[in-house]
Amino acid sequence: MDKDEKKKLLAELKAKMGKDYSLPLRKGTKNLVFGEGDIEAEVMFIGEGPGYWEDMKGRPFVGNAGALLGQALYSIKLSREKVFITNVVHFRPPENRDPLPQEIEAFAPYLDKMIEIINPKVIVTLGRFSMAKFIPLAKITAIHGRAQRVNWKDKAVVVVPMFHPAAGLRSEEVKRKFLEDFHNLVEVLKSVKEETVKKSEQMQLV
Ligand code: URA
Repeated sequence: MDKDEKKKLLAELKAKMGKDYSLPLRKGTKNLVFGEGDIEAEVMFIGEGPGYWEDMKGRPFVGNAGALLGQALYSIKLSREKVFITNVVHFRPPENRDPLPQEIEAFAPYLDKMIEIINPKVIVTLGRFSMAKFIPLAKITAIHGRAQRVNWKDKAVVVVPMFHPAAGLRSEEVKRKFLEDFHNLVEVLKSVKEETVKKSEQMQLV
């Protein structure tokens, strides 16, 4: 799919979400927080849900947790503009409470479509709610920072579970692990890209 087609499909998806009054959590919010970044990104980050500033601005990760995410991206020479960032729910839960399973489920068809359109090489989940979308029974403390190959909707996808940056703001130890995991991400990306090259070379030989 070329970039123009992706842009068009994402704009249509956003418009559809904006008009979907069956979606939960809308009441009392200011903005839909769809997601943003490079629509041709190799890496897609999926967080939990918008907080106060995200709701105000209609953009994901623009508060304190977003600042730590930005710092982590900068440390591996990536920027927000080069990745795509979204959440499992797209309206702010009241008082920043955890999203409920049925709320995550209600937004899932939209998030799934977003993933399908962007088609990233690697999905980084931030926190347990987005990790559970792909790896339901895993413990984040056991697998954070390590690439997990999962079969998701009959497609092989590479998921790297990471701590939520807000947890890194509450604990120095988690922050250290969070930043370390970004360095592993560089290696994961490198090997996923090498695999893609190998596969396309093999295809040419057939
Ligand atoms: N936390 C999230 O999970 N997502 C945001 O967009 C902001 C904070």
